[in-house]
Amino acid sequence: MKYVDEYRDQELAKTIAGAIATEADSEKSYHFMEFCGGHTHAMFRYGVQDLMPQNVHFVHGPGCPVCVLPICRLDDAVELAERHGVILCTYGDMMRVPGTKHRSLMRAKADGADVRMVYSTLDALKIARENPERQVVFFAIGFETTTPPTAVAIKRAEAEGFKNFSVFCNHVLTPAAISHILESPEVRELGIVKIDGFLGPSHVSSVIGSQPFEFFAEEFQKPVVIAGFEPLDVMQSVLMLIRQVNEDRHEVENEYTRVVTEEGNLKAQALVSAVFELRKTFDWRGLGTVPYSALRIRDAYADFDAEKRFELSVKASREVTSCECPSILRGVKKPTDCKLFGTVCTPQNPIGSCMVSSEGACAAYWTYGRFREPKPLEAAK
Ligand code: SF4
Repeated sequence: MKYVDEYRDQELAKTIAGAIATEADSEKSYHFMEFCGGHTHAMFRYGVQDLMPQNVHFVHGPGCPVCVLPICRLDDAVELAERHGVILCTYGDMMRVPGTKHRSLMRAKADGADVRMVYSTLDALKIARENPERQVVFFAIGFETTTPPTAVAIKRAEAEGFKNFSVFCNHVLTPAAISHILESPEVRELGIVKIDGFLGPSHVSSVIGSQPFEFFAEEFQKPVVIAGFEPLDVMQSVLMLIRQVNEDRHEVENEYTRVVTEEGNLKAQALVSAVFELRKTFDWRGLGTVPYSALRIRDAYADFDAEKRFELSVKASREVTSCECPSILRGVKKPTDCKLFGTVCTPQNPIGSCMVSSEGACAAYWTYGRFREPKPLEAAK
């Protein structure tokens, strides 16, 4: 398939793996955080880790929007569906994430709540159009990639004069999360999480561009390479990071030039800033409270803001204490460090969000890596 097969070519993969083995300094160790769950899955699915020398390590980051949503917001969504009797529209993965006391949207639906899986924001609008007597809420989650479609839905709802459509907004921002990780005690003071560079997000960068990452490269002196999601993209990006580390450079480089530009998608950015504004703080699962890391709906569109339309009660939300998702999302632990991994917690019976989402680290380990140990490069030759 054009534009896919070229990025999965075995011979090219061996060539890049050879270059990585040659250029990785055996006196050094390299720790690269992949922010996106999409990169984590590409690494596991295509065995990228197996092609790395022993001194190149991947640290899994918090770049899975389903995984980072705090339980309190999920509990709010369950409340919207159960107590306020709305039609709650959501993307598929969110339905299975357990909230407090393992209560998920799927369980709420089984108990009679009207929860519907949609593929796009426009599906939710269609449901609102077809059910004028019912309130329809779109449970909006995601990073900068999924924010523009939510803005489109709100704009369209306003243009069509919808009175029964609103959005429960949980859109979060990548740059703020990366800053928070780099400023965390585990990275800065304790040295528990070592990060020598970042594989930068690809789809997010297609919207916001590579320019916002200049700040980290400069301020924290960490190289960033915007990487595509195919295995050769990831490997080439690792090679670019190794070269930066070896040359003591800390720049933003763009491996994913076929999609990402420096300025990003200006039209999408304008649309998003017309509809949304920054929240002062937002709680992330794993990262805690992160300043200016999420969006809320502007007052001009308050009629479409579910948080204003419905009174949500303050709840005592609770994480499952033995679930290590929060530590995994900070790069402090790996899924296999969790004693529930593969025993109590599996994709069929997920205990935490990282096992539910198709981009979650636990799901990646379970699906592609649970029987494997990383091998030295020689095994791949
Ligand atoms: S294996 Fe399950 S319980 Fe353990 S950290 Fe992952 S999602 Fe949480």
